[in-house]
Amino acid sequence: MKDEMILELINVTKVYKERSGKKFQAVNNINMHILKGEWVGIVGESGSGKSTIAKMISHLTSVTSGTMMFQGQDSTSLKKKELKEYYKQVQMIFQDPLLTFSPRMKIGHYLIEPFINFKLADKKEAFKMAEELLELVGLNKEFMGRYPHELSGGQLQRVVIARVIGLNPSLIICDECTSALDATTQKQILQLLMDLRKRINFSCMFITHDLSVAKAICDRIYIMRQGEIVEEVYSTNLLKDAKHLYTTELLQAATALQPLRPSI
Ligand code: ADP
Ligand code: MG
Repeated sequence: MKDEMILELINVTKVYKERSGKKFQAVNNINMHILKGEWVGIVGESGSGKSTIAKMISHLTSVTSGTMMFQGQDSTSLKKKELKEYYKQVQMIFQDPLLTFSPRMKIGHYLIEPFINFKLADKKEAFKMAEELLELVGLNKEFMGRYPHELSGGQLQRVVIARVIGLNPSLIICDECTSALDATTQKQILQLLMDLRKRINFSCMFITHDLSVAKAICDRIYIMRQGEIVEEVYSTNLLKDAKHLYTTELLQAATALQPLRPSI
């Protein structure tokens, strides 16, 4: 039986039009897919088009040409109502957690908000669910009453992960979600994501400039350069199968990270 595809990008191109009228092709005719439950890394140097892919999938920017399929349906352009359902299914985690919080909103409110917005629970139920989510990401319920500035970067990213997990999405896109953290915290957050993977079934697109991070947690990796996919490798075969000189260079630039990936 063919594995079920959660996401497929077919000949997808993004051309940005700058204010001066100048055009810039950030993503050039790419093809990629993610299977149900699969974790796929997108690795490339800064400016290679990684975030542009994430933004197209998240409908934060439009696709210039090509097709995006989500769970077998064309999702290239969605109407407002379809988009709302899509946003429940596809969640994003960005590099800087502080940007996702408004400074005067308590952590509890931040966690409850999606349950109320999507009409998934009343306030009392949502409060209880939020407390459980905090526990799931290794924080206690006292964090409910705290403000974002009272938390460390790692704690904030745990809260962001809690909110995302709470919606039970099919696909989570992490765009450099550990890049701003120190090495120890980065490792803890990666470990948390992998522990969650074992408990909750979701697919993940993990974007990073660090090939060793992708190798540690992803099943399969696409290597990007200047808007194009130059290589696709399975993490377990990375050292053996990497054909491009560029991939080898990325490997050399990667930080030394012990394998975190569980054997599944
Ligand atoms: P990455 O995430 O791999 O660092 P991005 O997808 O952010 O790369 O950017 C890819 C290229 O597209 C870069 O050269 C960037 O300058 C350009 N770019 C990104 N966003 C815009 C925009 N809104 N308008 C014009 N060019 C952009
Ligand atoms: Mg980026």
